[in-house]
Amino acid sequence: MDAGMLIVGAGHSGARAAFALRDNGWEGPITLIGDEDASPYDRPPLSKSVLLGEQSIADCLLYPPSAYVEHNIQLLKNATVTTIDRAERRVTLHNGEQISYHRMLIATGARPRLLHVPGARLNRVHYLRTSRDALRIIDCLAPERRLVIVGAGFIGMEIAATAIARGCHVTVIEAAPQALMRAVPSEVAQYLVDRHVEMGVNFRFGAQIEQILGNADAAAVRLADGSEVPCDAVIVGIGVIPRQELAEAAGIDVKDGIAVDDTLCTNDPHIYACGDVCSFPARLFKRRMRLECWKNAEDQARIVARNMLGRQETYSEVPWFWSDQYDQTIQIAGLPGLATATATRVVNDRSRIFFALDDDGVLVGASGVGQIGDIAKDVRVAQTLISRRASIPSESLEDPKVKLKSLL
Ligand code: FAD
Ligand code: NAP
Repeated sequence: MDAGMLIVGAGHSGARAAFALRDNGWEGPITLIGDEDASPYDRPPLSKSVLLGEQSIADCLLYPPSAYVEHNIQLLKNATVTTIDRAERRVTLHNGEQISYHRMLIATGARPRLLHVPGARLNRVHYLRTSRDALRIIDCLAPERRLVIVGAGFIGMEIAATAIARGCHVTVIEAAPQALMRAVPSEVAQYLVDRHVEMGVNFRFGAQIEQILGNADAAAVRLADGSEVPCDAVIVGIGVIPRQELAEAAGIDVKDGIAVDDTLCTNDPHIYACGDVCSFPARLFKRRMRLECWKNAEDQARIVARNMLGRQETYSEVPWFWSDQYDQTIQIAGLPGLATATATRVVNDRSRIFFALDDDGVLVGASGVGQIGDIAKDVRVAQTLISRRASIPSESLEDPKVKLKSLL
């Protein structure tokens, strides 16, 4: 068989890239290798509709199984790539099988950061990354169960909302002084925390976990101040680590993720990377960054496939992501963390948008929170304004009568 396109990681960006290769005219072999037992699926529903029992894993598949056959994409499930031989341009799998490549894409995503305290390996201490994890967590979400969530990041906040909807008692323990500190402006985080408190979530900010107590199963969490929170299960969402070790061992450059250039190519011209695992130069923001969001996985897959076929397209999308908690949606464009000034647009009594401006008055971020219909269009327009490095007076951003579109 001719050496073809090899994709390591059958997650969101890996699967999208496989189909994009075909759509862009590649007629040779495509092999998509994944270490999970499910066909590639969408992860965002895992913390939302799947845990709510509204969708099954089968509902979340990115493509029906027949599509792989129709597009002649060889999907290897339960298969782990263990080494890359760059000189010979081939990989070895866990079972010793070797596969050669013409071009390779590494889309290995990220894994949950583990909590290292005594008791962290007891039963009923869970993480959420995969469909299997979600199926294990569903069993913990019954009415009146007491759930401790460690980390008030996206996983923690979304699971808290889902668990409340399922009738659980929820305590969120967060080391930082507020929620969602990494990606969300403090006004948005506070707005969401207020909503969670209204719904009955108990927060412990600035709190460190010292130990998870229990015999076989987790029964309580002890904090550094000596207090104990009884529980029936613990869910840990304290961030992720890029799965870069395979690339690193093969001598591919890594810098908080697999380092790629703006065509998503690594320092080996035959090897590319995309999605949660890659760090790329974001020229607009004059920095290298790694994003952990759906839209980035989706967009990079499209571009990397074309570049693997010989094009030289640069990746320059403005970051965008969303989260759903209760009846609230948040949508964020750009990098609000770069703000030195902010402007708030009160769209109506249910929704608002927080704009982030840098020292030069250039729009660098927009964060909408509230009802999707009230904010989605404007956050999209803001995304375009950010890509154009638009300088906009705060008064125009704040005034809901000024159509953002008119500022384009
Ligand atoms: P992944 O989807 O993680 O895929 C990587 C795959 O590679 C995995 O299947 C992994 O097992 C496999 N793999 C790794 N190493 C190997 C190896 N050596 N051999 C074979 N296979 C390997 N983003 C948003 O923007 N909005 C949301 O609301 C949102 N919700 C989310 C909810 C949850 C519960 C999770 C976990 C994530 C959520 N995300 C959300 C983030 C989004 O899902 C990710 O950014 C996206 O899945 C990244 O895609 P990826 O292809 O880079 O990585
Ligand atoms: P995250 O968003 O990085 O949040 C982790 C949180 O845990 C941070 O607030 C972190 O605080 C805190 N933390 C770290 N160590 C702690 C400790 N020992 N005790 C208590 N708190 C601690 O990561 P995540 O929520 O685990 O999400 C995992 C991945 O899923 C990410 O890639 C995320 O983007 C993705 N995801 C995305 C969405 C979405 O976009 N809507 C939804 C779900 C999941 P510090 O920042 O101070 O370390």
